[in-house]
Amino acid sequence: MRVGILGGGQLAQMLTQAAVSLGLDTAIYDTAPDTPASRLTHHNGVGAWDDLAALRDFAAACDVLTLENEFVRAEPLIALADEGVSIHPSGRTLAKIQDKLIQKQTLIAAGLPVPPFEPVASVADAAHAGATFGYPIVLKKRYGGYDGYGNATVLRHSEVAEAYARLSASGAALMAESFVSFARELAVMVVRGYDGETRAYPVVETVQRNHICHIVRAPAGIPRHIAALAQEIAVRAVQAFGGVGIFGVELFELLDGQIVLNEIAPRPHNSGHYTIEACVTSQFENLLRAVLRWPLGDVTQLRPAVMVNLLGTRTGETSAADIAPALGVLDAHVHLYGKREGRVGRKMGHITALGATVADAERIAVRAASLCTL
Ligand code: ADP
Repeated sequence: MRVGILGGGQLAQMLTQAAVSLGLDTAIYDTAPDTPASRLTHHNGVGAWDDLAALRDFAAACDVLTLENEFVRAEPLIALADEGVSIHPSGRTLAKIQDKLIQKQTLIAAGLPVPPFEPVASVADAAHAGATFGYPIVLKKRYGGYDGYGNATVLRHSEVAEAYARLSASGAALMAESFVSFARELAVMVVRGYDGETRAYPVVETVQRNHICHIVRAPAGIPRHIAALAQEIAVRAVQAFGGVGIFGVELFELLDGQIVLNEIAPRPHNSGHYTIEACVTSQFENLLRAVLRWPLGDVTQLRPAVMVNLLGTRTGETSAADIAPALGVLDAHVHLYGKREGRVGRKMGHITALGATVADAERIAVRAASLCTL
């Protein structure tokens, strides 16, 4: 049985690792031939995200397709599904999530809490959002943003024109959102099976540094009723899109304990990497189970865990030697993503540490990360 993965980055690499343990074969489709995950399989497809013919050839060699990033185009996936190809999450689900404006409209239509937002097609529209919501506002590209690229926080009216011009420079469609003064950022992984069954992993706290996820504390140190609310909202958000697979749901916890949705990712998520070591079933294994119509796995967390991302601190070649010192730290699990070239701020790997408490795990993870020289 072969699972075709659209995208060959670190998420595909970890998905391949889970696939191997289940006796599955993988194939990778990406725009470049040499990706971290394509080196792990003999079955590779190379082509543009909208190359229907290349995608069709690739799909012909696979039993089911899934995806690991949102740069994949929805339209060809919808066309292939209409030809009988099994793709999960579906192109239709992807289309509703990929466009941040449609995503928010779908969530609000489902009665879910999101920050006030408006479509923006001109400087005047952006200024209108600022006047309506009050500053600051966050201008966002509707498509293709990741790790904060594609967002601009606009503090005052005088900054609107410059921020609009910068974000829309390449013709990008934008939206505006009210700035949320959150107490904490939370995230929940939700797996949804073929029959609509959902299972929510524990609520984690995510800390971003320069808009990139820096640290994940699992579970989040929040009262039980807030965790239950966050899980309920995350599950309802996933149900609003109706797809099969694994979904990362990002949330804001407000100072008064209210939960507001930030965004949803239709794929394995950085905030769910801790599940590899800390949960009965990892987010990657559960994605495979879901798309193959197999029973979903137990999402119970077995031990407190903290994940720290390993970001590049220099340009140039990296190797396993750069993580070797961290291997001496007990209870730290080091993952390297096989990216040959390092770059300042690039996600090169991560460390998950297990501990008796979250604080314990954090000390171990931070210490191990400090020994890496990526
Ligand atoms: P990306 O798709 O690039 O990850 P997000 O929309 O998730 O972008 O935003 C990245 C980070 O920017 C969030 O994790 C959060 O810290 C901050 N952010 C996004 N939207 C808002 C908002 N409306 N108010 C306050 N902070 C926000």
